Amino acid sequence: MAIASINPATGEILKTFEPLSEAQIDEKLQRAAERFATYKRTSFADRSAWMLRAAEILESEKKDFARMMTIEMGKPIKGAVAEVEKCAWVCRYYAEHAGQHLADKKIETDAKKSFVRFQPLGPVLAVMPWNFPFWQVFRFASPALMAGNVGLLKHASNVPQCALAIEDIFRRAGFPEGSFQTLLVGSEAVQRILEDQRVVAATLTGSEPAGRSVAGIAGKQIKKTVLELGGSDPFIVMPSADLLEAVTTAVKARTINNGQSCIAAKRFIVAADIYDEFERRFVEQMQALRVGDPLNEATEIGPLATEQILKDVDEQVKTSVAAGALILTGGRKLDRAGNYYQPTVLINIPENSPASCEEIFGPVAMLFKVQNIDAAIDLANASSFGLGSAAWTNDQHEQNRFIDELEAGCVFINGMVASDPRLPFGGIKNSGYGRELGEFGIREFVNVKTVWVK
Ligand code: NAP
Repeated sequence: MAIASINPATGEILKTFEPLSEAQIDEKLQRAAERFATYKRTSFADRSAWMLRAAEILESEKKDFARMMTIEMGKPIKGAVAEVEKCAWVCRYYAEHAGQHLADKKIETDAKKSFVRFQPLGPVLAVMPWNFPFWQVFRFASPALMAGNVGLLKHASNVPQCALAIEDIFRRAGFPEGSFQTLLVGSEAVQRILEDQRVVAATLTGSEPAGRSVAGIAGKQIKKTVLELGGSDPFIVMPSADLLEAVTTAVKARTINNGQSCIAAKRFIVAADIYDEFERRFVEQMQALRVGDPLNEATEIGPLATEQILKDVDEQVKTSVAAGALILTGGRKLDRAGNYYQPTVLINIPENSPASCEEIFGPVAMLFKVQNIDAAIDLANASSFGLGSAAWTNDQHEQNRFIDELEAGCVFINGMVASDPRLPFGGIKNSGYGRELGEFGIREFVNVKTVWVK
């Protein structure tokens, strides 16, 4: 099947690419293996210089890269520019900190000296999603390359132009040929690539089924994986919170990237005392969002990335409504060309309906009223996912309870969940395992080698 770049705002086919043949895949895997043999011996200073150059390219061409993303997957252009800037940030962060994160770590024992040395593993396969087509790749590639690994990118099939542009950025930045390669292949090729002995590990950011499949294949091969999967993050608001700020942040947290973010807040759990006001203001702000052409600077919600996602979101909402959920606003696709879905608010969500237990990847918010903090925590944790969580309260005791008791890879108090190159990022439960970013992220794909000298 050809790999196609299709503008989700218009349905226009922009470009198609033939997937790599078996022989071409083989050639790239061989190049990766051969490159690793020399790349692993390069110094942090060299890698840092190349990584800083990558940051400069990203910054100087950010408008072009942003436009490419917007045209390929529909994110509003403002967010696309911010995404490219964040990629430059993560490159700079690891250029500056990788040496320190991976420095030998002394441990006192009865030996003359004993320490841990961190060494690269080899070619790592990255299976990546389309929703943040630059950021997802850079947050893998910058630590992996700084640690001395080489990267193989299998990007989502709907963002081939982004995939090729990223390979080109690393090449132009000066990284030796073959240290970062894009493989234009469909998901059916992943098994064969991962089973190849030249590939030593894999990271996947994507859906739960894709994660299960990749982890299963890697497990059989005894290869390390990191999985960054879906989420249904709770956003809890208690009576002591700043309600106006909480509502505005809640709307942003749900609708960022047209609602297609793993860490978008999806379930809004609000204390009964303030629920009515929260609901009224939340619905008002969802209705006021500017939906339209993602290339327009003023647009807040663009089209969903593919026709299939639009169908899935529509189906999830319809099934939830058939089970008893009520629509306060939205609930339909827009009557125009492109994959547009109305900003939607659902209440009265029945247990076991898609809105209650699945991830909805679009601008659809679910509101829940709870009587107290115990009910809020129980409801927040009643999910098979455990990616992010946010809780709004100015009560210290409540803050501590949320920090201790929410089952998630992170908890943000009085703010919205966001990734940051300095902080570890990842989930628990069906949201995956392992961490990206910060000091923990760069240590995922290294051999933690114990050294003992008498
Ligand atoms: P997806 O369908 O799972 O695709 C992600 C990547 O996996 C694509 O490259 C896809 O290739 C590949 N893939 C799909 N099925 C596969 C399989 N059975 N074996 C091997 N590879 C497979 O997910 P998506 O729709 O692109 O992205 C949305 C999902 O990603 C959401 O669930 C979202 O929450 C999650 N996500 C998580 C994070 C995080 O950090 N936790 C961040 C962003 C997104 P093709 O495109 O060729 O099918």
